[in-house]
Amino acid sequence: MSQVYKGVHFIPGQDEFIPDSHVYVIGDPGSKDLSIVDAGLTGKGGYKAESIRKLGIEPADVKRIIMTHTHLDHIGCLAEIQKAFPGAELWVHKLEADLLEKGDDRAVYGMDMFKSMCQSQFGLAPDAFTFKVDRKLEGGETLEIGDMVWDVIHIPGHSMGGIALYEPVGKILIPGDVVYADYAIGRFDLFGADAARLKDSLNRLGQLDVDILLPGHNQILKGVPAGYIKKTTKMWEPYLV
Ligand SMILES: [Zn+2]
Ligand SMILES: [Zn+2]
Repeated sequence: MSQVYKGVHFIPGQDEFIPDSHVYVIGDPGSKDLSIVDAGLTGKGGYKAESIRKLGIEPADVKRIIMTHTHLDHIGCLAEIQKAFPGAELWVHKLEADLLEKGDDRAVYGMDMFKSMCQSQFGLAPDAFTFKVDRKLEGGETLEIGDMVWDVIHIPGHSMGGIALYEPVGKILIPGDVVYADYAIGRFDLFGADAARLKDSLNRLGQLDVDILLPGHNQILKGVPAGYIKKTTKMWEPYLV
């Protein structure tokens, strides 16, 4: 748990046999208008909420939870986080928001085998992932939140409604599971994934000037080398057809 930039805090995931996504808290604490980006795996909400409280953040100052996408390792503990921050809205890209509102959990589990495994492992009810979404994002929005400005970029491919958040002053990119450190990219074999779209999304992110890369898992990167995302895309291009 640490501040990676003024107004950006990092709470690392605690991977079990299934990964637990990182959480980022964005917004200047003085603004009392903070956002949590992603929740994490089922059962990890208590640790995440406690970590956020230890930052000295008042629960009432958390105004929204923004999901980069709705895979189980990101949304599994959303209900736990909502309980800890009851005033927070839920913002999700429209394509995955529409599924959540219908209780369609295909984008959460990604594949049937994983669904039955997780339902028995975590004792999840069939309707565990029905949520009301307060704001449906589409990409292209400029969010003026927490005394910062974040651009929303729709980056499908890993999931259909994946988004990145980009802060141009600090050159900070939160890409969900689309691109990681160590020249890694997200998988593209689950429900709603599309290799060609993932390539387009990586090309789009490659146009950005990025100094701080804050992915959904593994290392975070400060002082990102110029052309890092372009180089990563080039390496993976043969597989992204
Ligand atoms: Zn994912
Ligand atoms: Zn993930």
